[in-house]
Amino acid sequence: MNRPYRIVMIGKQGAGKGTQCSKLAASLGLAHISTGDILRGAVKVGTEFGLLANDYMERGDLVPDDVILGIVEDRLDQPDCRDIGFVLDGFPRTLAQATALDEILHPDGVKLVINLDVPTDVVLDRLSSRRVCTGCGRTYSIYKPPSSNWTCDDCAHEVIQRADDTPEAISRRLAIYDEVTSPLIAWYQEKGKLVTIAGDGDFNAVAIEIAHLVERAQ
Ligand code: AMP
Repeated sequence: MNRPYRIVMIGKQGAGKGTQCSKLAASLGLAHISTGDILRGAVKVGTEFGLLANDYMERGDLVPDDVILGIVEDRLDQPDCRDIGFVLDGFPRTLAQATALDEILHPDGVKLVINLDVPTDVVLDRLSSRRVCTGCGRTYSIYKPPSSNWTCDDCAHEVIQRADDTPEAISRRLAIYDEVTSPLIAWYQEKGKLVTIAGDGDFNAVAIEIAHLVERAQ
């Protein structure tokens, strides 16, 4: 793919978007823009915008489009995104966000949308067993905990369950994905931008497949 890279990773919560986007971004020097991480950062710092977003996030609801759009537009206007490029993780999640993204990136729009497809029973297990570091955000699971007493191996902060990884919030988030976000798959397919890959295989094998896709894309 020619610079600037303009990639969107789409998929259910727990499909592995975050880890795959981090790896891809690190290997190509791209900006990894995770709207969930940006929002969690704002909640942690306690900004006005974070306080507004927190209620929606804890319930598993989407934060209103106008709130999220301003943040993404500002971030995409930074020199690293304009010159080298980006991979978007968790955005767009609604048709209104996808349309706005097209307008921001007019006339070309995004170059590649990767749909990381993982069966619902697999993501349900991943989300309910997931634990995250409160310091650096590193992901663990109850099957692969940190080496010492739920303390992060990398930064020694506490490792906890996300407030929106409770059974109620998980089922709400997956229902919203099916209803509001999954129509984007057909939308990007029609534009000839979408490639679907199975995301439930070995992490490194999936990462290699993604790297090849990006290499081959226009
Ligand atoms: P994630 O870590 O991507 O699962 O995002 C966590 C939460 O942040 C979501 O459940 C939403 O409440 C909120 N969020 C993240 N990205 C978006 C978005 N593009 N639009 C609306 N809300 C979002």
